[in-house]
Amino acid sequence: MRILALESSCDETAAAVVEDGRKVLSSVVASQVEEHRLYGGVVPEIASRRHCEAVVGVTQKALDDAGLTLQEVDAIAVTYAPGLIGALLVGVNFAKGLALSSGKPLIPVHHLRSHIAANYLTSPELEPPFLCLIVSGGHSHIVQVRDYTDLHVLGRTRDDAAGEAFDKAARAMGMPYPGGVEMDKRAQNGNPEAFRLPHPTVDGAPYDFSFSGLKTAVINLIHNAEQKGQTLPLEDLAASFRKAVVDCLTKNFVKAAQDTGSKKLVIAGGVSANSLLRSRLQEECRNRGWKFYMPELKLCGDNAAMVGAQGYYEYISGNVAGYDLNACAEMAVDQNR
Ligand code: ATP
Ligand code: MG
Ligand code: FE
Repeated sequence: MRILALESSCDETAAAVVEDGRKVLSSVVASQVEEHRLYGGVVPEIASRRHCEAVVGVTQKALDDAGLTLQEVDAIAVTYAPGLIGALLVGVNFAKGLALSSGKPLIPVHHLRSHIAANYLTSPELEPPFLCLIVSGGHSHIVQVRDYTDLHVLGRTRDDAAGEAFDKAARAMGMPYPGGVEMDKRAQNGNPEAFRLPHPTVDGAPYDFSFSGLKTAVINLIHNAEQKGQTLPLEDLAASFRKAVVDCLTKNFVKAAQDTGSKKLVIAGGVSANSLLRSRLQEECRNRGWKFYMPELKLCGDNAAMVGAQGYYEYISGNVAGYDLNACAEMAVDQNR
């Protein structure tokens, strides 16, 4: 089964064709990051407008690259939640138009489920059940993936998402948006022990995260230094911050795996591109004899290939939408429509 998939939940307009949930026939991503960088973050209204401009060309290119016409694909999958509402609506309405005009089924896909599904493309042997750490710009979850469409959230962030904390701390350090990427680079040359930063935990909720105190600690360090006319060694601060975030993520994820007896661990979302998180979890899993999976780097951030992958499993489980499908800014990853 070939699925034409669309993604427009944030600032990437993306389309892809994916076969049987596992094979990428084409994947096109038009990023707006250069424009949003001018403002230090995503401006929702600009994002919606750019999606409107890009969606037709990106979709046509995905079909062309796959060597297929719209009539030759079997279904249309689209990200419908969660995300920026104006951005999501562009993809959802365009997908509805395609489905209506071609008579193909319309498959609604949850954005975080698709981040998880990026791993099905990278690792053909990966099948549920497994334990997944979703770390992205807007979310930080520990999720039991019992089956492709049967998920259960064990833990979540109480405040900032990991990616959001990276971006805000990086911005305070004067790095360009999206700061997580830049912080990872600068941290390579820094001393992670240079600054002692807090490792916040949530009382009575060992799988939950809290990153805002850590982010504020870094911002305070920078402000205090500025007031004294000092400049901090940014490489060291970046390395210390990155280590603190990765320490918190690793500790809770490993504990959740031990408590649930999971021996198959998976990471997903934009922050799963972080080089320290990847190497640390690889090592933790190797030491314990657990299996570890991560998406290849180009599938960590937003793309439509992952939507086509999850779309296949949603379709098989009977999740098909009518033409009244609406976009939702918020929706739990373990909620079924
Ligand atoms: P969500 O998926 O929660 O809706 P989103 O789609 O905006 O949010 P993603 O595209 O999944 O988020 O991920 C983007 C985030 O990943 C940004 O916060 C970015 O800084 C972060 N990120 C990307 N690469 C790295 C890296 N190497 N290290 C740390 N963070 C990174
Ligand atoms: Mg983005
Ligand atoms: Fe995302």
